[in-house]
Amino acid sequence: MKQVYNFCSGPAMLPAEVMAKAQQEFTNWHGLGVSVMEISHRSSDYVAMAKEAEQDLRDLLTIPDNYKVLFCHGGGRGQFAGVPMNLLGDKKLASYVTTGHWSRSAVTEGEKFASADIFDALLRDDDGNVSVRPVNEWRYSQDSAYLHYCPNETIEGIAVHQIPHVDIPLVGDFSSTILSEPLDVNRFGVIYAGAQKNIGPSGLTLVIVRDDLLDRAMAHTPSILNYAVTAKHDSMFNTPPTYAWYLSGLVFKWAKAQGGLSALAKLNSDKAKLLYECIDNSDFYKNQVDIAYRSKMNVPFFLADETLNEVFLSEAAEHGLMTLKGHRVMGGMRASIYNAMPMSGVQTLVEFMREFEKHHG
Ligand code: PMP
Repeated sequence: MKQVYNFCSGPAMLPAEVMAKAQQEFTNWHGLGVSVMEISHRSSDYVAMAKEAEQDLRDLLTIPDNYKVLFCHGGGRGQFAGVPMNLLGDKKLASYVTTGHWSRSAVTEGEKFASADIFDALLRDDDGNVSVRPVNEWRYSQDSAYLHYCPNETIEGIAVHQIPHVDIPLVGDFSSTILSEPLDVNRFGVIYAGAQKNIGPSGLTLVIVRDDLLDRAMAHTPSILNYAVTAKHDSMFNTPPTYAWYLSGLVFKWAKAQGGLSALAKLNSDKAKLLYECIDNSDFYKNQVDIAYRSKMNVPFFLADETLNEVFLSEAAEHGLMTLKGHRVMGGMRASIYNAMPMSGVQTLVEFMREFEKHHG
């Protein structure tokens, strides 16, 4: 089989070693003679694996003891509702900082439960160059139950690399950036992330919540979205996504074996640098995000001559470079280079881009 590099934004590629391990034990997990997806989530083997996965995640992110880690259903969008339902308490207002598509989508859902106090931090000039207002200029209401933001806008490739200092609970949608670098969990009330980019397969959503926030859910919060109920039942109030949990556990072990998040952060920075340099050193490609706010996970770029888009995509596919088409709201191209993307994948992409420019530039 020819080498394929998959640049999909999510569900995204998983580490080759993890896929090989999962394949090896697919029909006979732990010598039980059945797959891990065929056994009860209440069986001792499964519970031991689930606990180990949580501990590995805690080790990776240095999650303090006063935080619960919840393995949930419902994706990032589930948490767009889960956050207000669990955190509003007796307040009516929630603050949202918007920087792109996903933070705005969180507002749309949040407004079903609360009045939204919105601070648009996205800056855009007439030429389409974008930047973000520095976090120390973000404004929010002290009456809000929380401040929500998205540190990595997956579609626009915009990242906020500083954590804002706020004195109300801070909520971060880390769907496309979790585990890509070390994170000071202490600064947050809630961190959540859909698994399907840097963690594992879709179907699992991680919520990391400070335990003093577990007592404020609205009375009518569905149990399945209720953090306190989920925590009380060790994320097994109902049947969890057992296979996704297991596979994510393999990814956590893989991440530890790579040297943990500092080592992955270094590799991610090197990969992103290589790709942005290729884009910036050419008039043939462009990325319009302010250098200080560029994502290291999702790199959108445009061809100066957009009539070449289809040719670019089909020639890229011939070179084993898959899923480079930009999101439909953005157009152009996007290379998602999460933890599992090896340096060789980015090198191959950059070589292809230079060759393509030579032939079509
Ligand atoms: N937030 C971010 C930052 C995302 O990238 C996505 C999905 N790409 C979502 C939320 C929505 O996630 P889900 O599809 O898991 O609901």
